[in-house]
Amino acid sequence: MIEAALKTERLRINEIFHSLQGEADAVGYPTVFVRLTGCPLRCRYCDTEYAFHAGDWLDLEAVLDKVRGYGARHVCVTGGEPLAQPNCLKLLERLCDQGFQVSLETSGALDIAPVDARVSRVVDVKTPGSREAARNRIENFALLRPRDQLKFVICSREDYDWSKAFLLEHGLSERCRILFSPSYNEVSPAALADWILADRLPVRFQLQLHKILWGDTPGK
Ligand code: SF4
Repeated sequence: MIEAALKTERLRINEIFHSLQGEADAVGYPTVFVRLTGCPLRCRYCDTEYAFHAGDWLDLEAVLDKVRGYGARHVCVTGGEPLAQPNCLKLLERLCDQGFQVSLETSGALDIAPVDARVSRVVDVKTPGSREAARNRIENFALLRPRDQLKFVICSREDYDWSKAFLLEHGLSERCRILFSPSYNEVSPAALADWILADRLPVRFQLQLHKILWGDTPGK
């Protein structure tokens, strides 16, 4: 009985590491990243394929211990798709209880409703260039709060035009902050910046700080 209860509090963890937050609101802050194993999507540009299958099962308490050990204020729960593991919800709740500033990076394909209200949710909108646009869970949009962020990774001019139309169609700019990022090595950052300015688009341009600093080095 006790063993069964403990098993219910386990997570499959690909890596836990300390770095600078490279994206979204907490960009630049020292942050502990908890990367959960597994993702039901297969975005064409995915840079964390190594998290699809590899990982060790850890008790929730062991994860919390390791996070505390870094002494950082910010924690980012990411993947893969972290919400694919139901115990991710418990992890988020416990991290908030312990006073961390918690963010969640999620694909936008799964239900964000049960996520603890204290968590800042960074939700992807998959563009056609990702080849996973059919997975966008439109029902999530009604759940977004001002502290949440919607992230578009733009792979081409066609993706940019699609994203602009999608924002308007779903009234997303009024719901939360919108992030537009150029897909790494696919769209020139300067071109995307120029398109946004030319259209007076109310979105926040961002580059992935960790990619600028460290390229594709894992664990950074
Ligand atoms: S949702 Fe994220 S982790 Fe999953 S395939 Fe797409 S980019 Fe990779």
